[in-house]
Amino acid sequence: MASEFELIARHFTRTGRRADGVVLGVGDDCALLAPAPGQQLAVSTDMLVEGRHFLSTIAPERLGHKALAVNLSDLAACGAEPFAFTLALALPRGDEAFVAGLARGLFALADAHGIALVGGDTTAGPLALNITVLGQVPPGQALLRHGARVGDRLWVSGRLGDARLALEVFRGTVALPGEAFDAVRRAMELPQPRVALGLALRGLASSAIDLSDGLVGDLGHVLARSGVGATVDVDAIPRSEAVAALPRVLQHTCVLAGGDDYELLFTAPPAQDDAVRRAGAKAGVGVSPIGRIEAEAGLRFADAEGRPVAFAERGFDHFA
Ligand code: ADP
Ligand code: MG
Repeated sequence: MASEFELIARHFTRTGRRADGVVLGVGDDCALLAPAPGQQLAVSTDMLVEGRHFLSTIAPERLGHKALAVNLSDLAACGAEPFAFTLALALPRGDEAFVAGLARGLFALADAHGIALVGGDTTAGPLALNITVLGQVPPGQALLRHGARVGDRLWVSGRLGDARLALEVFRGTVALPGEAFDAVRRAMELPQPRVALGLALRGLASSAIDLSDGLVGDLGHVLARSGVGATVDVDAIPRSEAVAALPRVLQHTCVLAGGDDYELLFTAPPAQDDAVRRAGAKAGVGVSPIGRIEAEAGLRFADAEGRPVAFAERGFDHFA
């Protein structure tokens, strides 16, 4: 077992590394940061609690990845460019191997985005990780929830539903062959934050949000903030073969109310269709049109033939 200070020194202090915008990192009472002149600071924080946001079966490397990924996903949804983060960690014991694995997963993703861990806190307690990410965005260019306009097209990146399918397998409600399970488990444990897409959508998307609590709930936030409604073409929502093989009702649960997708849901005027597709190609992720923003308030679902599809589930709520 290692002490608090040994854990910090061995696993969360990296010397000899410079990151843009970081004047002073881990080790003093504060970090000192210098965002690029004239840019706005974008700040977001997300906490992961064992049993709530992840299962105890997750490997420590994947937990480190996921804790940072869900935070980067929020910056992506705002079109902000990440540059630093902090980590507050509660650990049941000073388990060196666990912390080493966690740090490996965390720093692999941090390095992929060129961002630095600049501080945090380490305490004993039930396993929980709280990361705060810091990013920058030019004034007026952040992608926000309130900008969807009547007539805009609704887009989603990547595929939806795999993380929920993995959860259903863990719950024992669905069985999958080993390889298919590994793939959906990856989606649940190793989400890929769409940072490059968020940046490419600056000036194009009229609104954006990242999908953490399921499309129904998250789109609901955009519609409420924007004062509009929408119809979603349920059959147009991209999904894996494993999800597409499920009974239709369960497919709808996975893609519409799944949660943990960490894809971007955004709107843009139809005149921008080609530019949106180019943004996806530039960012290396598929983007699919899945519906329309309408004046009539509320959220409606239709199939490929335009027939109404009933769906009553709500987005995830910790206290519902
Ligand atoms: P303080 O008592 O002033 O809060 P700490 O002893 O908690 O200081 O932390 C010492 C230094 O280590 C600080 O710079 C803090 O930001 C950093 N730190 C502590 N825990 C972590 C962590 N899990 N990840 C990154 N930095 C950490
Ligand atoms: Mg402290």
